[in-house]
Amino acid sequence: MYDDNNIFAKIIRGEIPSFKVFEDAGAIAFMDAMPQSEGHTLVVPKAQARNFFDIEPAVLAELIKTTQHVARGVQKAFNPGGMRIIQFNESVAGQTVFHIHFHIVPCYEGVPLRTHNRDWADKAVLAQHAERVKQALGN
Ligand code: 5GP
Repeated sequence: MYDDNNIFAKIIRGEIPSFKVFEDAGAIAFMDAMPQSEGHTLVVPKAQARNFFDIEPAVLAELIKTTQHVARGVQKAFNPGGMRIIQFNESVAGQTVFHIHFHIVPCYEGVPLRTHNRDWADKAVLAQHAERVKQALGN
Protein backbone atom coordinates (compact mmCIF):
# COMPACT_ATOMS: atom_id res chain seq x y z
CA MET A 1 0.00 0.00 0.00
CA TYR A 2 2.67 2.56 1.06
CA ASP A 3 5.72 2.88 -1.20
CA ASP A 4 8.62 4.76 0.42
CA ASN A 5 10.08 5.73 -2.97
CA ASN A 6 7.61 8.61 -3.27
CA ILE A 7 8.99 12.14 -3.58
CA PHE A 8 7.87 13.29 -0.10
CA ALA A 9 9.53 10.29 1.59
CA LYS A 10 12.72 11.36 -0.22
CA ILE A 11 12.28 14.95 0.98
CA ILE A 12 11.72 13.73 4.58
CA ARG A 13 14.92 11.61 4.35
CA GLY A 14 16.80 14.62 2.96
CA GLU A 15 17.56 12.82 -0.32
CA ILE A 16 16.10 15.62 -2.41
CA PRO A 17 15.97 19.32 -1.55
CA SER A 18 12.93 21.38 -0.64
CA PHE A 19 12.23 24.90 0.59
CA LYS A 20 11.35 24.00 4.15
CA VAL A 21 9.41 26.37 6.41
CA PHE A 22 8.79 24.18 9.45
CA GLU A 23 9.98 20.92 10.98
CA ASP A 24 9.40 19.11 14.26
CA ALA A 25 9.55 15.48 15.38
CA GLY A 26 6.27 14.64 13.66
CA ALA A 27 6.10 16.63 10.44
CA ILE A 28 7.71 18.93 7.92
CA ALA A 29 6.26 21.74 5.83
CA PHE A 30 7.74 23.10 2.61
CA MET A 31 6.78 25.16 -0.44
CA ASP A 32 4.89 23.33 -3.18
CA ALA A 33 7.20 23.22 -6.23
CA MET A 34 4.26 23.72 -8.64
CA PRO A 35 2.25 26.22 -6.62
CA GLN A 36 -1.36 27.01 -7.39
CA SER A 37 -0.87 30.45 -5.83
CA GLU A 38 1.78 32.53 -4.05
CA GLY A 39 2.55 30.83 -0.76
CA HIS A 40 1.20 27.36 -1.59
CA THR A 41 2.67 25.19 1.17
CA LEU A 42 2.52 21.46 1.95
CA VAL A 43 2.41 19.86 5.40
CA VAL A 44 3.64 16.27 5.51
CA PRO A 45 3.84 13.86 8.47
CA LYS A 46 7.07 11.93 8.94
CA ALA A 47 5.07 8.77 9.69
CA GLN A 48 4.40 6.61 6.66
CA ALA A 49 0.81 6.77 5.45
CA ARG A 50 -0.58 6.78 1.95
CA ASN A 51 -3.66 8.86 2.65
CA PHE A 52 -6.53 9.79 4.97
CA PHE A 53 -7.61 6.17 5.36
CA ASP A 54 -4.46 4.47 6.63
CA ILE A 55 -2.99 7.27 8.78
CA GLU A 56 -3.17 6.64 12.55
CA PRO A 57 -5.85 8.92 14.02
CA ALA A 58 -3.41 10.28 16.62
CA VAL A 59 -0.90 11.17 13.88
CA LEU A 60 -3.67 12.81 11.87
CA ALA A 61 -4.71 14.85 14.92
CA GLU A 62 -1.14 16.14 15.32
CA LEU A 63 -0.88 16.77 11.58
CA ILE A 64 -3.98 18.96 11.53
CA LYS A 65 -2.61 20.96 14.49
CA THR A 66 0.64 21.45 12.60
CA THR A 67 -1.31 22.42 9.48
CA GLN A 68 -3.18 25.09 11.43
CA HIS A 69 0.12 26.41 12.84
CA VAL A 70 1.77 26.59 9.42
CA ALA A 71 -1.39 28.03 7.80
CA ARG A 72 -1.34 30.85 10.34
CA GLY A 73 2.22 31.59 9.29
CA VAL A 74 1.28 31.58 5.60
CA GLN A 75 -1.67 33.88 6.40
CA LYS A 76 0.63 36.30 8.21
CA ALA A 77 3.29 36.17 5.50
CA PHE A 78 1.03 36.63 2.45
CA ASN A 79 -2.17 38.17 3.83
CA PRO A 80 -4.46 36.49 1.26
CA GLY A 81 -8.18 37.22 1.29
CA GLY A 82 -8.84 33.53 2.01
CA MET A 83 -7.25 30.13 2.02
CA ARG A 84 -8.02 26.56 1.02
CA ILE A 85 -6.82 23.62 3.08
CA ILE A 86 -6.97 20.62 0.75
CA GLN A 87 -6.17 16.92 0.92
CA PHE A 88 -6.60 14.43 -1.97
CA ASN A 89 -7.04 10.64 -1.76
CA GLU A 90 -6.06 8.47 -4.76
CA SER A 91 -5.46 9.45 -8.39
CA VAL A 92 -9.13 9.65 -9.25
CA ALA A 93 -9.45 12.40 -6.62
CA GLY A 94 -6.30 14.24 -7.78
CA GLN A 95 -3.62 12.71 -5.52
CA THR A 96 -0.27 12.52 -7.30
CA VAL A 97 2.15 11.88 -4.40
CA PHE A 98 1.17 8.88 -2.29
CA HIS A 99 2.31 10.07 1.11
CA ILE A 100 -0.47 11.94 2.91
CA HIS A 101 -0.20 15.74 3.01
CA PHE A 102 -2.31 18.84 3.45
CA HIS A 103 -2.17 21.67 0.94
CA ILE A 104 -2.29 25.23 2.25
CA VAL A 105 -3.42 27.32 -0.74
CA PRO A 106 -3.78 31.08 -0.26
CA CYS A 107 -6.54 32.66 -2.38
CA TYR A 108 -6.26 36.25 -3.59
CA GLU A 109 -9.11 38.48 -4.74
CA GLY A 110 -9.32 38.47 -8.55
CA VAL A 111 -6.44 35.98 -9.01
CA PRO A 112 -7.52 32.57 -10.32
CA LEU A 113 -5.72 29.55 -8.87
CA ARG A 114 -3.24 27.91 -11.24
CA THR A 115 -3.77 24.30 -12.30
CA HIS A 116 -2.79 21.68 -9.74
CA ASN A 117 0.57 19.97 -10.30
CA ARG A 118 1.44 21.66 -13.61
CA ASP A 119 4.07 24.46 -13.75
CA TRP A 120 7.35 24.37 -11.81
CA ALA A 121 8.01 27.63 -9.98
CA ASP A 122 11.26 29.57 -10.09
CA LYS A 123 13.48 28.27 -7.28
CA ALA A 124 14.59 31.77 -6.25
CA VAL A 125 10.95 32.78 -5.80
CA LEU A 126 10.21 29.64 -3.74
CA ALA A 127 13.24 30.39 -1.57
CA GLN A 128 11.99 33.94 -0.98
CA HIS A 129 8.50 32.73 -0.15
CA ALA A 130 9.86 30.14 2.27
CA GLU A 131 11.81 32.89 4.05
CA ARG A 132 8.63 34.94 4.44
CA VAL A 133 6.74 32.01 5.98
CA LYS A 134 9.65 31.09 8.25
CA GLN A 135 9.86 34.67 9.51
CA ALA A 136 6.10 34.77 10.08
CA LEU A 137 6.37 31.54 12.09
CA GLY A 138 9.27 32.98 14.07
CA ASN A 139 11.70 30.30 12.83
P1 5GP B 1 -1.19 15.80 -4.54
O1 5GP B 1 -1.57 15.86 -5.99
O2 5GP B 1 -0.60 14.44 -4.23
O3 5GP B 1 -2.27 16.19 -3.59
O4 5GP B 1 -0.10 16.90 -4.33
C1 5GP B 1 1.23 16.74 -4.63
C2 5GP B 1 1.83 18.12 -4.68
O5 5GP B 1 3.21 17.99 -4.66
C3 5GP B 1 1.47 18.92 -5.95
O6 5GP B 1 0.82 20.11 -5.58
C4 5GP B 1 2.81 19.17 -6.61
O7 5GP B 1 2.90 20.46 -7.15
C5 5GP B 1 3.80 18.96 -5.49
N1 5GP B 1 5.09 18.42 -5.90
C6 5GP B 1 5.34 17.45 -6.80
N2 5GP B 1 6.66 17.18 -6.88
C7 5GP B 1 7.24 17.99 -5.97
C8 5GP B 1 8.61 18.18 -5.58
O8 5GP B 1 9.54 17.55 -6.08
N3 5GP B 1 8.85 19.11 -4.60
C9 5GP B 1 7.83 19.82 -4.02
N4 5GP B 1 8.19 20.72 -3.08
N5 5GP B 1 6.55 19.69 -4.39
C10 5GP B 1 6.26 18.78 -5.34
